[in-house]
Amino acid sequence: MIADELLRAELAALAPYAIPHPPNIRAKLDANESPHPLPPAVAAALGAHLAEVALHRYPDGHAAALRALVAREHGVDPAQLVFGNGSDELITLLMATFARPRPGAARAGVAYPTPTFVVYRIGALSHGLAPVEIPLGSDFTLDEDRLHDTLARERPNVVYFALPNNPTGTLWPRAAILSVVERHPDILVIADEAYFAYSGETMLDLLPAHENLAIMRTLSKVGLAGARVGYLVASRAVAGAIEKIRPPYNVGSLNQAAAAFLLAEHRELLDAAARAVIDERERVVAALAAHRDLLVFPTRANFVLVRAAFATALWHRLAERGVLVRNFDRPGPLAGCLRVTIGTREENDALLGALG
Ligand code: PMP
Repeated sequence: MIADELLRAELAALAPYAIPHPPNIRAKLDANESPHPLPPAVAAALGAHLAEVALHRYPDGHAAALRALVAREHGVDPAQLVFGNGSDELITLLMATFARPRPGAARAGVAYPTPTFVVYRIGALSHGLAPVEIPLGSDFTLDEDRLHDTLARERPNVVYFALPNNPTGTLWPRAAILSVVERHPDILVIADEAYFAYSGETMLDLLPAHENLAIMRTLSKVGLAGARVGYLVASRAVAGAIEKIRPPYNVGSLNQAAAAFLLAEHRELLDAAARAVIDERERVVAALAAHRDLLVFPTRANFVLVRAAFATALWHRLAERGVLVRNFDRPGPLAGCLRVTIGTREENDALLGALG
């Protein structure tokens, strides 16, 4: 079959990113989204704003309005930003850009602690790069000696740290990441701060002093998952290199306009929604921890990882009761694990009620 003959060998064992959609779900706690829709008046104002967008024209390939807003928010030069169709696309673009094998190596390497966000691995494989996986400890903490040894030995081009990590919720110490940045100046370190709104910790302040550090953010976790807007804050050199291959119109006009409108006019709404989730997180974590059959891992994100004896059976039982969480239960470090996104108070009550 032509598809098999032409398929990149590394992809043969991969399965498409599958998202189950069981019926009658009333608490959707599987995708780390914000549970808070826009208030109707804001949605109406946004609708009127979007009606002005010139859909017969291509988007602004430079995303100038959004770029200016985000540059101002972070106090960086607009030329330090790259916008992506979600940060997923930025991961792909980074793989495609910084892919030159080091002298003597057949392939460039891409490192990341595991378990982590699967797109790092998929991105590496789909670009013919060698994944360099650095196992976390059993409690999902970083083994710093192992990390440094692996980086020194394998010399990957890029290393990704999800801060906090998905799906474990762990926030590794800033000092550990900084030591990687300082000790490996020839490795590009990506601090993926997708869940910054829920951790409150960033490495952005370190950017001016370190050309090999870049910060990745997304609007997906703060109420705009449908808009698919992510961005990278990097040195001008790194951002400029990615800009050479970024598809010129990768962020649609409606998405740019929606993001710019909400960031400029309704920032406090997004912030309040995140604060409500953080409050709920403390309540949900405490309630889950009180279950003697659940082991709850510490979290700094808008989700929490739990381990249960019969996790897959529990996942089915929750789905039957209208509560959708993410099942990571398969042999390996996440055996027995379910990831629960923090929802609204009602959704969290549905979860806690369904757990019994
Ligand atoms: N990074 C991490 C750590 C994530 O968990 C996610 C979303 N699951 C992303 C990046 C991608 O986010 P998006 O493409 O929606 O911006």
